[in-house]
Amino acid sequence: MDLSIRKIAADKARRKPEDDSQLGFGRYFSNHLFCMEYDADRGWHSPSIEPYRKFELDPAALVFHYSQEVFDGLKAFRGKDGEVFLFRAEDYVRRLNTSAKRVCIPEIDVRFVTECIARLVGLDHDWVPSSPGTSLYIRPVIIATEASLGVKVSSRYLLYVITCPVGSFYVKEMDPVKIAVTEKYVRAVRGSVGDVKTGGNYAASLLAAQEAKKEGFNQVLWLDAIDRTYLEEVGTMNIFFHVGGSLWTPSLSGSIIPGITRDTIMKMAGAWGLSIEEKRISIREILDAHAKGEVKECFGSGTAVSIAPVSGFRFEGKEYPIGNGEAGPLAKRIYEELQQLQRGYREDRFGWLKRVSIA
Ligand SMILES: *Cc1c(COP(=O)(O)O)cnc(C)c1O
Repeated sequence: MDLSIRKIAADKARRKPEDDSQLGFGRYFSNHLFCMEYDADRGWHSPSIEPYRKFELDPAALVFHYSQEVFDGLKAFRGKDGEVFLFRAEDYVRRLNTSAKRVCIPEIDVRFVTECIARLVGLDHDWVPSSPGTSLYIRPVIIATEASLGVKVSSRYLLYVITCPVGSFYVKEMDPVKIAVTEKYVRAVRGSVGDVKTGGNYAASLLAAQEAKKEGFNQVLWLDAIDRTYLEEVGTMNIFFHVGGSLWTPSLSGSIIPGITRDTIMKMAGAWGLSIEEKRISIREILDAHAKGEVKECFGSGTAVSIAPVSGFRFEGKEYPIGNGEAGPLAKRIYEELQQLQRGYREDRFGWLKRVSIA
């Protein structure tokens, strides 16, 4: 397939905000987007990079009614000598495909789409910020566009990728968050769609997050939907506990997202010789370890936030502080190493970096 590229007119082009500290998360979008369409006759076709624009869709488009859609989120970083690197891009696009399969969206060619993302980032390379903690966030999305009110698998789709320069997800990078263990709601159940990035999961999580916020917590810690005992995720992040001499994280239960940051941390910290335990973790086990003073740190992991240290949690009305209210040494070390790695200042031993050619 030939990628067509149409550049924005010079008088229409916008500039990235000068001050990186004003970026926030997902507020400014760069000048171009990538899109590609699908229909039953032609399959995926017409890949193009175009000026950022609005879409016109039929109000009956299936995505609006039954949420047949998937998305993902990856990043490009400004590194050594001003170069731009994509981090684990193919892994993210592969996950987009896994998500797509689960909601009957036709698969895409992972290598081709990854290459198109690299071209898009190359074209808008001056939107990749360089201050510490900043990056270019890349959001691929696939939506069902057939106009039909019957619940069915769409015969038409639109894949698009937009990018935005981002600063820190929370007010300040590595500022600890307080979390509340949800007792009233669950996020997903094994066998459903909790292990893929599809919009409905996030709509379903809003109320729990809103209620937790009202009570002074930044995020909710989800327990499993069946026993209401085992740790799943924190907000839209995977969770880690540093207990005794080990780093614990819940195993992939089928109802949590197989986080790429989670995988990166396990491989990176594993290579440092830290013992990693991927297992079913009950909240009681955490409470016991906490009572013995063995819970040294807790943090969430995700592409958007990187690492979010947790300074304490509430469960059954009781609060359990962790650490001294600041990011712990392990969270800091992982965060720093990750930044270095993503910017090309460390040996890329796992082959995670893709250098973007500047268009
Ligand atoms: C995206 C996401 C994560 C983190 O995955 P990464 O690949 O590390 O970004 C964790 N939980 C949920 C619910 C997510 O949507």
